[in-house]
Order: sequence, then C-alpha cells, then structure tokens
Amino acid sequence: MIANRLKTSLIIVVLFGAIHAVMGCGGSMTLLANLKGAASTPLHDLGATPAAMISPSPDSASTPIPAVEGPWVIGYSSLEVPIHAYRIGSGPRARLIVGGIHGGYEGNTIELVQKFVDVLIENPESVPSQLTLYLIPCANPDGAAAGTDRIHGRMNGNLVDLNRNWDYRWQPISNHGPWTVSGGSAPFSEPETAALRDFILEREIEAAIFYHSAWGAVFPGSGQSASQAEALALLVVEHTGYLYAPTDIDWQPPTGNATDWLTTNGIPSIDIELTNHVDIDWDINWEVLQVFLGWDIPNEGPES
Ligand SMILES: [Zn+2]
Repeated sequence: MIANRLKTSLIIVVLFGAIHAVMGCGGSMTLLANLKGAASTPLHDLGATPAAMISPSPDSASTPIPAVEGPWVIGYSSLEVPIHAYRIGSGPRARLIVGGIHGGYEGNTIELVQKFVDVLIENPESVPSQLTLYLIPCANPDGAAAGTDRIHGRMNGNLVDLNRNWDYRWQPISNHGPWTVSGGSAPFSEPETAALRDFILEREIEAAIFYHSAWGAVFPGSGQSASQAEALALLVVEHTGYLYAPTDIDWQPPTGNATDWLTTNGIPSIDIELTNHVDIDWDINWEVLQVFLGWDIPNEGPES
C-alpha cells in the first residue's frame, strides 16, 4: 500500500519592510544615502513624518545655520504627496534648481537634480559663500509616480500640465506639441504650482533653472529678449553645446509657463531641456551648475 503522503510545499514569505516605488520622486534609496552626508540634520523618519521636516523660516537665525538642510516639505501635490526641498549653503542670495515639473515623463530631470543634491550634500563648499542654493528634485510627484507616458506621467493628479498653470498669459487650454493640455481652472489652481510660487517668493529666489527633457536646448522664455534670463541662457549655451532656443516653439504658444512668470516678475529663469528622456547629461549639467553658481546677475538699468 502506498502511504498517503501529502507533500506540502512550504512557502516562506519574508517581507523586508516597505516596498520602494521605482518611479517615485528621487527614490528612497537616494534619500537614505543623503542621510549619511547630512548627519547634522535631525531627520529620523524620512518617509512617515515629512511634516516634522518643515524648515525654519530663513530669518529665524537664533541658532547657527548648518551648511545643508533637507529634505523638508514645501507643499503637497493634488494627490497629497509631499514635495521636498533641500538647501545647500547659507549665503544672503538665494537661487533655485527645479526638476520633475513634468513628472515621470521627464523623469531624468528628477534623477539629475537629485544627483546634484547628493553630490552637494557631500561637498557643500561647492556653493559660494554669498549664495544659498535650493533644490527641488521633483515638483510633480503625482506625475513621477504615474510612469513615463505623456499624459499621466507628465500631468499632476488632476491631469493639469504644471508648466501651463502659472500666471503668465494663462489659458485654461494650452498645448504640448500637437496635443492639447489642461492649464488648470485658473492660474495657480494646482497645489504644486502654488507651493512653488510661495516658496520662490518667501525665500526671495533671485534666479532659477527649471529642467525639462528632451529638446537638448536652453529656453530663456517667451519675449525675454535682452533680459537677464537671456543672458543666463546664452552663458549656459556657451558652456554646454545645448542649442539656444530664443523663442518658444511656434506651434506651442507659451501660456502659463513657470520661467516666463519668474522672469516677468524680475527673477531671471531659464528652461534647460536634456537631450533625451533617459540620460541626465551629468558632465554637461555639472558644468551648468558651476556656471549658474558663478553667474553675476547683471545690474538692472534705472527703473523708469
Ligand atoms: Zn517638460
């Protein structure tokens, strides 16, 4: 007789804690790596308690200012995902670099700005003493989590294009190439753009770079001829080999563009487009960073 043996398979499932999203903003592994270099920053729980990372206001100088700070939360997306910022240096003049306003569709811009953060946290002396450099690796965490497609990956959770939602020639319907996109229900209707605007104004940002992909070009914005933004764009072109795009794309009239809003509000600002949707063009953009940090903003002419 055959013993009625029942072979059982034993399946052991071992859970190693939280599953890290591949397409998220910055990536948990990168954030953890940052902690090594930011030992002076009292961050104990990066994932669960972002509210505890709120930065002190820039003028509360009762304690010495550490060379690096972050990540802290500057606002939340339409799906209530936190948007993080970092600070390197503590000089009186503030500049800003933003990645990922077009989410996972331009995910390499998130990677690039996060790598700036990683390197600068280890080398904060790279930022000149007269400057404070703020970095926001991912301005659109909803799009970053949604993948790489040009709709869900590019827009926020409300399916609004966050680079059509600023108060510069704003229109409810705009374009991305041959496609129509939503600019939102009003200028700054989206929480991401409102948070960025408030951050820029509160921190008194004097110049900014927004990264995009994949035109391989530098845009000083629409109608910014002879502006400081144009001067910065030309300087970046000179040092990189990216094309110079003096006007916006003919078939994509600029409405609600971030850099246009900044520049027309007296904050020179450019768009830099990486060459494709994958590579971060690290050597080129490390040079861009040096150029940006070394740039003396030309004096404005007399006010009329
Ligand atoms: Zn873009």
